[in-house]
Amino acid sequence: MFEISVEKTIAAAHRLFDYDGPCEALHGHNYRVQVSYGGTELDRYGMLADFTDVKRVFHAVLDTLDHTYLNDLPPFRDVSPSAENIAAYIFHELKRHPFPRAKLLRVEVWETPTQRAVYWEE
Ligand SMILES: [Zn+2]
Repeated sequence: MFEISVEKTIAAAHRLFDYDGPCEALHGHNYRVQVSYGGTELDRYGMLADFTDVKRVFHAVLDTLDHTYLNDLPPFRDVSPSAENIAAYIFHELKRHPFPRAKLLRVEVWETPTQRAVYWEE
């Protein structure tokens, strides 16, 4: 089994609605986001998927979130933009761009260097 990952950091503002705590107020994070793909077969270049292609798709999805107020975006109008929901949203967007040998395994979103949420499907 092989696994590859790419990572990017984006900045975004959010507030958690109906939440009794400081995160109900508008604030921002530098979200560190990592996506991982896995598989057993490599292509003729010895790659599970070309990092260039993985980054192109990954960056395209993250660019829609970078430097935004997440609560204003359609996917988070009715869903609280928690790290968990952000990870799930990114995962589902990435699923729309599959690679032949690389299965999308998980998306990890760090809100701070010590707090992360992970989304995957079994
Ligand atoms: Zn927050």
